Amino acid sequence: MVIKKNRKIAYFSMEIAMDSDIPTYSGGLGVLAGDTVRSAADLEIPLVAITLCYDKGYFYQQISPEGYQVEKEVRWEFSKEFEPVPKIIEIKIQGKPVKVGAWKYSVIGKTGWEIPVYLLDTEVPQADGMEWAKNFTHVLYDATPFQRCVQETLLGIAGPKLLDELGYSGLNTYHLNEGHASFLTLYLLKKLKDEEEVKKRCIFTTHTPVPAGHDKFEYSLIQDVLRDYVPPNIKDYAGEDKLNMTKLAIHFTRYVNAVAQMHGKVSREMFPGVEIDAITNGVHSRFWTNEYLAELLDEFTNEGTPITESWFDKVWKIDPDDIWEAHEKAKYDLIDYQKSHSSTLFEEEILTIGFARRVTGYKRPTLIFNNLEELARIAKNKIQFIFAGKAHPRDDQGKGFIKEIHDKADELWHSYRIKVCFLGHYDMDLAKMMVSGCDVWLNNPRRYREASGTSGMKASHNGVLNLSILDGWWIEGYQMDPKAGWAIGPAPGESGADENNDDLAAKRIYKLLEEKVVPIFYYNRNEWVDRMRHAVGLGKFFNTNRMVSEYAKRAWNLEESPRWISRVNL
Ligand SMILES: *Cc1c(COP(=O)(O)O)cnc(C)c1O
Repeated sequence: MVIKKNRKIAYFSMEIAMDSDIPTYSGGLGVLAGDTVRSAADLEIPLVAITLCYDKGYFYQQISPEGYQVEKEVRWEFSKEFEPVPKIIEIKIQGKPVKVGAWKYSVIGKTGWEIPVYLLDTEVPQADGMEWAKNFTHVLYDATPFQRCVQETLLGIAGPKLLDELGYSGLNTYHLNEGHASFLTLYLLKKLKDEEEVKKRCIFTTHTPVPAGHDKFEYSLIQDVLRDYVPPNIKDYAGEDKLNMTKLAIHFTRYVNAVAQMHGKVSREMFPGVEIDAITNGVHSRFWTNEYLAELLDEFTNEGTPITESWFDKVWKIDPDDIWEAHEKAKYDLIDYQKSHSSTLFEEEILTIGFARRVTGYKRPTLIFNNLEELARIAKNKIQFIFAGKAHPRDDQGKGFIKEIHDKADELWHSYRIKVCFLGHYDMDLAKMMVSGCDVWLNNPRRYREASGTSGMKASHNGVLNLSILDGWWIEGYQMDPKAGWAIGPAPGESGADENNDDLAAKRIYKLLEEKVVPIFYYNRNEWVDRMRHAVGLGKFFNTNRMVSEYAKRAWNLEESPRWISRVNL
């Protein structure tokens, strides 16, 4: 039972990935929000979360035989666990009334603590006669500026209104997870009629290290959609030409944070004069650790308690052979799946390198193919590569990368007998299988573009070794424990750090593969398993229990520490 008056924090996110079967998320941002809610439940945080219910999801990804991404509508049954919320609210869009309903999904923590997640939906029976509004919540991110502005209006205006009408009267922190939720500040301004009062109640997490990634809207559109929610002086702080959702959020929040230490630095340079804290992201440990390894780590853990540091320390007490055996089981599961979904049949004994994340330019998904001859020389009979990831439907360059990976896979097979495959329909289930069952996790973004890169943290939890550019979380992870993987150097700020030189970056990867990764994997299994333990050990820090504890202290200002926080060492 949620006692509404006692909830202090409302968490707003355009996407929250609760379960693979609930396709209302696209990628990193949604998964992080999901992990945040899962840890908030474990730690008994008085939080309530709001997102939208996209009844057609994001999209179902197929890969055609020629290697093109095909976007299919997702068909899904509303989760049986969704409960209709017996309340319909009304807001105005373009001055016209729109009825908004909601569903509730409960995330239950280790001790039974419930976090309610409300999913807003404009396709409700009571909205009869308002056909134009029904498709507002159909699809995530597939939007004209109008559609997108409307969806953000639902999140920011209908969201807090629903909480008010449901009786959440004790809220003192509204958490804007990314700029999508910034209209919420305009709702509060209208209600409280005082900028300072709004500021006292709002906090903001930015996730994007590049200016182009920040949502912007024409003022004419904003005026048209939001009308009397728009204060007359808005251009003074939200951007002169266009409304910048990040600037709006910064203006109205008491606290702003970035999601890794380097991202904090980059964000401070982007917004000079703004105080920006950094809370490094994490992942939900139990959710992202494969069953075989988790069972070993669970031994001696009390069922009904959240995971703390000691869970990770157990990795040093487990027999190395058992760690390797758990890894092999996870690897066989992945390869079984791979074999039933690809015509290139992988082999269990071969060193398997994984790469899966949103397919987009700055992540350089095809960098490894920079010099095929050189790659073939190193990888022949020794390495197989497995890729996955969705490109945004409007990102033609990203889709081009998928085709290119497909073509390079063909060429590597026909000319050199090297196995490369691209698996379709990347979602949390496939993500988990890959971060559990690969041997090495490759990550080679253009530096300073990756805010954090949570898939690498998931891999590390599973004892999968990271081979990554020093960017995002890995700057911190590699520094904490260089045995947990390898850094595609040099360090930030060091000479020779040329972010844009792909040839140089590829050469560095080839060199590491040839001189370190391959020989250790095949000829020094003891060192490999030892490194796996170091990787698992990093989970101690890169988890959302630690992250949520930091938010509780510095961002949410909870007056009293929730029960578990004191036991999670910061
Ligand atoms: C973890 C995860 C991501 C984020 O991966 P990055 O490394 O941060 O890019 C994206 N999509 C899914 C399905 C995930 O599980």
